[in-house]
Amino acid sequence: MSIAIVGAGIIGASVTYHLKKTGYNDEIDVYEKLDAPGEASTSLCAGGARNLWSTSVNLALATESLRRFASFKEETGRTIGYENIGYLFCLYEEEYKQIEGFLPEWKKYGVNAELIPAERISDFVPKLIPDVDDEVKELLNIKPFRGALWGKDCCALNPTSCTTAMFDCAKEMGGIELHLGTEVEKIIIGGGKVKGLEMKNGEKINCDRCVVAAGTWSGVLLEKSGVDIPIVPIKRMLFTVYLPPELGFEHIPMTIIDRGVYFRVEAGNLLVGRAKEDQEPGFDTTVENKYYVDEMNPYMQVRIPGTEYCRILSSWGGLYAVTPDNNAIIGEYPGIDGLYLITGFSGHGVMEAPAAGRALAELITEGEYKTIDLSPLSIKRFKEGKLIKETIVI
Ligand SMILES: Cc1cc2nc3c(=O)[nH]c(=O)nc-3n(C[C@H](O)[C@H](O)[C@H](O)COP(=O)(O)OP(=O)(O)OC[C@H]3O[C@@H](n4cnc5c(N)ncnc54)[C@H](O)[C@@H]3O)c2cc1C
Repeated sequence: MSIAIVGAGIIGASVTYHLKKTGYNDEIDVYEKLDAPGEASTSLCAGGARNLWSTSVNLALATESLRRFASFKEETGRTIGYENIGYLFCLYEEEYKQIEGFLPEWKKYGVNAELIPAERISDFVPKLIPDVDDEVKELLNIKPFRGALWGKDCCALNPTSCTTAMFDCAKEMGGIELHLGTEVEKIIIGGGKVKGLEMKNGEKINCDRCVVAAGTWSGVLLEKSGVDIPIVPIKRMLFTVYLPPELGFEHIPMTIIDRGVYFRVEAGNLLVGRAKEDQEPGFDTTVENKYYVDEMNPYMQVRIPGTEYCRILSSWGGLYAVTPDNNAIIGEYPGIDGLYLITGFSGHGVMEAPAAGRALAELITEGEYKTIDLSPLSIKRFKEGKLIKETIVI
């Protein structure tokens, strides 16, 4: 049976690689509208990966994916910039108590997680101040840190290298064609099954199966194909700024402080992000440096002396593909044979890519999930009111 994959981001790469690994022998055609793999959200992301999640499906996907990133070099003979930097979530009192409740479940999954007291935070992030003046707290609407969650297995990686590596490995196994600069206009569906694809240039091809790994653009493609899915694009911005002049800062973990401001070291600078709360959905990716200056750096300044010197070096906007419950949609579309969705990762697609791609490949080649049961992520959950309520979001 012929299969087409739309989208050559990290998700399309993972599905392709795992289809080959699970023994899919027929030709796989991957269609990508841009000129290189991983050029869209994948290359614009922060490259962080954590196994600290509250729902079992995210826990399973991330735990397995982190294991795969750690051993990627041995598995593939390729490097993906893997760095076992860990994640440090600084927590207010109520968050600290909530996390205490997750520790037994995490232990069952083998997640290396530990709550540390406030006075130990500066062992990880030099000079970080757990409490600040009452006036500042009121002004910025922040609270003292009760402590922090330390996730030792969490990591950073280069998602574009990982995407390229998975495609290269898949190509080595043979039977893959990567069609770059080729935009799919719509999926041709008839009689309750996939029949083929129509390209933007009018060309038509036949296929029995189509995997939609088109990230933020999945909703647009499917709408043109007569299929409705709840995905919206939401802009997220990242800033690289100077490191604060503090010894030891070059070794900090991915650190999350007040209001979800997060940062880690990348190539000798600090990569900083924060999800803008009132960001309207849309495809616009214009970066707003003012947002860093007014809504991110002030939180850094009050917690870490010296971060007032962290001026912007570069900045960009990218897109999250967001679903109503901020979790991916994975599985065969009900009522359309051969239409597989793996999209809507809502800001955590890189860190779930290896395990999610493998599970979907199993569903396609073997007819069922083998490693991780992803049926809770089926699109059916929105109609059935079975949303996945993830509480650890940044
Ligand atoms: C600022 C920012 C920070 C992030 N930080 C993290 C993080 O730290 N950790 C993490 O796990 N995730 C993070 N994410 C999310 C992560 O980037 C995504 O979840 C992940 O890249 C999704 O991969 P994808 O392959 O689904 O999408 P994409 O990388 O967008 O790939 C989809 C591909 O499909 C192609 N395409 C679309 N429509 C068509 C069509 N009709 N025909 C042909 N090709 C088509 C696109 O050109 C694109 O290349 C972040 C995202 C942003 C924007």
